[in-house]
Amino acid sequence: VTDETALLIEREERHLAHNYHPLPIVVASGEGAWVTDVAGRRYLDCLAAYSAVNFGHGHPALVAAARDQLDRITLTSRAFHNDRLGEFAAELAALAEKDMVLPMNTGAEAVESAIKVARAWGYRVKGVPAGQATIIVADGNFHGRTTTIVSFSTDPEARGDFGPFTPGFVHVPYGDAAALEAAIDDTTVAVLLEPIQGEAGILVPPAGYLPEVRRITRERNVLFVADEIQSGLGRTGATFECDNSGVVPDLYLLGKALGGGIVPVSAVVGDENVLGVLRPGEHGSTFGGNPLAAAVGLAVVRMLATGEPQARARELGAHLHSRLESLVGRGVIAVRGAGLWAGIDIDPSLGTGRRVCELLMQHGVLAKDTHGSTIRLAPPIVVERDDLDWAVDQLEAVLAEL
Ligand code: PLP
Repeated sequence: VTDETALLIEREERHLAHNYHPLPIVVASGEGAWVTDVAGRRYLDCLAAYSAVNFGHGHPALVAAARDQLDRITLTSRAFHNDRLGEFAAELAALAEKDMVLPMNTGAEAVESAIKVARAWGYRVKGVPAGQATIIVADGNFHGRTTTIVSFSTDPEARGDFGPFTPGFVHVPYGDAAALEAAIDDTTVAVLLEPIQGEAGILVPPAGYLPEVRRITRERNVLFVADEIQSGLGRTGATFECDNSGVVPDLYLLGKALGGGIVPVSAVVGDENVLGVLRPGEHGSTFGGNPLAAAVGLAVVRMLATGEPQARARELGAHLHSRLESLVGRGVIAVRGAGLWAGIDIDPSLGTGRRVCELLMQHGVLAKDTHGSTIRLAPPIVVERDDLDWAVDQLEAVLAEL
């Protein structure tokens, strides 16, 4: 650790709320899948800002879209129209094969927005008695950090001292369609799920689960809301993880990579019979749908419309998973995931996920632990195959050191 690194970390420690526990690296720049720290050391970024940097650091087309827009106009608010938003919404809706987009900024805002939309749909379309709407969520979910969202978290750390909580949520075990069906009653307006549970440890539900959820929700007149904020936009080798099961939800929740790692951009995407319930004045955001966000989001959508990032994630992901599988029994207990997204359970008797990530950092690989002894790998999709192999070599070396 250099003096400059130590100084910068010490300043953060003193002046930032301690709601994170970062690895002791201070990043100064990045290009593609690589970042460079203040001491000039290079690291392969295998977290990609929790999948917000799916297309790599400083992607030329995305940076150009942002630069171009910076010189024109960045913010109008939605009190007025702007000349970028309609194009972005039209092409994002087309990508998702839906009618409409509700643009917001962060992932949590997209989730909050969908909760409001689902409730309003319940009262105005389904006919649920006023104030009684319920939404079914899964145990182990992660949908963000706002008070309503942590109200239905099952993670004691996330909820802790943050009550009183928002009512109206019903829990079911993740991956159990029969339990979900049994939990539906006349007050149920929506089922809100991650198609793969990211923060829980890249938990992939049993095959057939999402199609069953789709069948049940359709039969019972309940909205299926898929939180694709982390799983969507190329990460799992498809535009949406739901595509991998042949499932089309009523609402897609998108964020993270939608802003290309440049600006926060999120959205709820759905058909008019659902999103159309919102009336002027009922919902909004000062920054939601701003021209800079729309310009970058449009460039992201156009990249995804080629299908190239999805194909690359699929191919490289198959390679990554086959290499990781070979580590099972050699310090690794299990590997899960899809595309370029892997949750790796380290044998807890060898060390914590945090320890593995610290050692990986010393080897030049940035990754993040989750829930004790699991680490996740989610490199930018632009990562080179040789670099990916090198990262797995480093993991092998770290496991041998434990
Ligand atoms: N939903 C999912 C599935 C996520 O993984 C996350 C963030 O990790 C969020 C929502 C919240 O997004 P944000 O941190 O942008 O509010």
